[in-house]
Amino acid sequence: MGLAKTGVASARFLAGQGADVTATDMRDEVALAGLLEELSGLDIRYLLGRHDEADFVGADMIVVSPGVPQEHPMLIKATAAGVPVISEIELASRFIEAPIVGITGTNGKTTTTTLVGELFKANGFATYTGGNIGEPLINLPESAVKVERVVAEISSFQLEWISEFRPRVAALLNISEDHLDRYADYQDYINAKLKIFENQTSEDFAVVNHDDELVWESAQVLKARLFPFSRMLELEEGIFRRDDNLVFRHNGKEQFFPVKGFRLQGVHNLENIMAALACCMLLGCERDASLLLLNRFEALHHRMEFVREVAGVRYYEDSKATNVGSVAKALESFNNITLIAGGKDKGGSYQPLAKLVSQRVRHLLLIGEAAERMAKELGNLTDTHRTATLEEAVELSARLTGAGGVVLLSPACSSFDMFKDYEERAQRFIKAVKGL
Ligand code: ADP
Repeated sequence: MGLAKTGVASARFLAGQGADVTATDMRDEVALAGLLEELSGLDIRYLLGRHDEADFVGADMIVVSPGVPQEHPMLIKATAAGVPVISEIELASRFIEAPIVGITGTNGKTTTTTLVGELFKANGFATYTGGNIGEPLINLPESAVKVERVVAEISSFQLEWISEFRPRVAALLNISEDHLDRYADYQDYINAKLKIFENQTSEDFAVVNHDDELVWESAQVLKARLFPFSRMLELEEGIFRRDDNLVFRHNGKEQFFPVKGFRLQGVHNLENIMAALACCMLLGCERDASLLLLNRFEALHHRMEFVREVAGVRYYEDSKATNVGSVAKALESFNNITLIAGGKDKGGSYQPLAKLVSQRVRHLLLIGEAAERMAKELGNLTDTHRTATLEEAVELSARLTGAGGVVLLSPACSSFDMFKDYEERAQRFIKAVKGL
């Protein structure tokens, strides 16, 4: 159900295994032309432009795309009829033998997942990195390539429909409000995230953020062995900061990682690094090879990326910051900020940003659908303007910001009201900034 990236990959894999596959999507052949081409030549029955109840209640198993809401009427009917509904990661994990590291959280998933993948490779492990980034997990069993480690970025949506999915190491980086357009309330979103630990046993590890109260509290009931990370506290067992080092302490033995050589900057990235190191060191990596990699690993694009300096003003692009948690980290990283924010509203509150906005944001420039609500919640805290386009916001920011200031695109919203995706939003910002 749902023929986007994971749906197509699942259909191809299952058809290749000799399963009797029906693929259904509310979009029609014209809208799906490109994707259908990827499945040409395979024995698949299509039901496009509509869903048929008989397909759902009559199936042996339904593989559902992460884009489909959990309470979709067809899924409710299918589960009521006793038909198992699973997600693509569940399907994939049943065919994967190598230990899986699963990484979730509201923010930092992509950075941490990529870093874990690189750490394993630097330690000589044949590694597959995928899931919510890059290639779907199911492409691994389909390729029949043998790997020794699998690293998967996992969104809350992919966790909605798991039953046996069991990462050897599962990491929960942080939780803050997000995706309230898809969940009935915040607790539902939290519960979806916690499902990553559901099938773990005492042979597995749960890497959790000790400094995130909600995460730490929720972790107390887990069956897996807890391996926390903290920037604030020294831990008996876990990874933490002591002076200029990260200390990995496991079974009473300590290993040190000097932070001064790390290329990733910002407190949030220190958390990502701790989580990544924990995942790798618990699964056979060595200190020296890991440290060398950490001293080489650069920030990914569109995550607090420096664009250019013009007239003493530094421009940063953080288009990937689509919720208040990630924007808070960006605001904590600078002073004297002109913040460009707004976009498609995801239904959460912007109040968590109020304190940082009044302390650090000199000018707030709002764009997109969310502008009105953001103006209501944050507009009285600082000099606030609304502009019709991102380009206009960049021009205005150049006029308003004095030398020594920072112009930051960190939207707190998704991009789909005005752009194809966050990458297009980033490119448009970069172009406007280069045109100044
Ligand atoms: P995700 O895949 O979870 O969206 P990314 O690594 O792509 O995470 O980063 C998304 C946004 O969150 C960026 O704006 C980035 O600067 C910010 N960010 C990265 N790591 C963290 C973290 N640990 N806590 C809060 N914000 C973070």
